[in-house]
Amino acid sequence: MTSYEQIFENNKRWVASRLATDAQFFEKLAREQRPDYLYIGCSDSRVPANEIMGLDAGEVFVHRNIANLVNNIDMNIMSVINYAVRHLEVKHIIVCGHYNCGGVKAAMQPQDLGILNPWLRNIRDVYRLHMEELDAIEDSAQRYNRLVELNVQEQCLNVIKTASVQQSYVEKGYPTVHGWVYDLHNGLLVDLKIDFIGLLHEIQKIYDLTGKGIGKVGSRK
Ligand SMILES: [Zn+2]
Repeated sequence: MTSYEQIFENNKRWVASRLATDAQFFEKLAREQRPDYLYIGCSDSRVPANEIMGLDAGEVFVHRNIANLVNNIDMNIMSVINYAVRHLEVKHIIVCGHYNCGGVKAAMQPQDLGILNPWLRNIRDVYRLHMEELDAIEDSAQRYNRLVELNVQEQCLNVIKTASVQQSYVEKGYPTVHGWVYDLHNGLLVDLKIDFIGLLHEIQKIYDLTGKGIGKVGSRK
């Protein structure tokens, strides 16, 4: 375990190594950020966003919470999406779940988990939406993995339901939304290849906030 004091030593070493390769590194970063990616992931300590994507400081805007949820009355995530889309003009929004997610596992237990109940209910709702498919999976580990994937898919839909994403996509052709799952056992990212355009059109009838109709907009960028 790294001691508390050790962290400041690590930090100094990191600064020195960055400056050794680029003397302007911090000055450049301090001026502005222009990340192409917004990453929405789980708070789990084993899933470090920048590291698994091989991206440096300044290259990805990050939001993390328990079980990578996009809840429309959570002002935190809604502000993050709004800022990333309207001001940073990110080109891609990624919702990244992970297998062995403790939040998803907890949601699978039908019991009172106190303050976590309202948060985990979002995942229980995902289960309810996909109950038929999930209940047909006999192996509990496989069912758990599938719920992780379906949760990512539903949170992608929640991202697509936001006004900023819809309006930016109609006006500029970006961002596109992606669903990923990180596998703790091998460190690999799995792209669920959600059909962004298809989902956009599918939910348009109820959730269209563009006033223009997304269906009239061209094909995938
Ligand atoms: Zn997790």
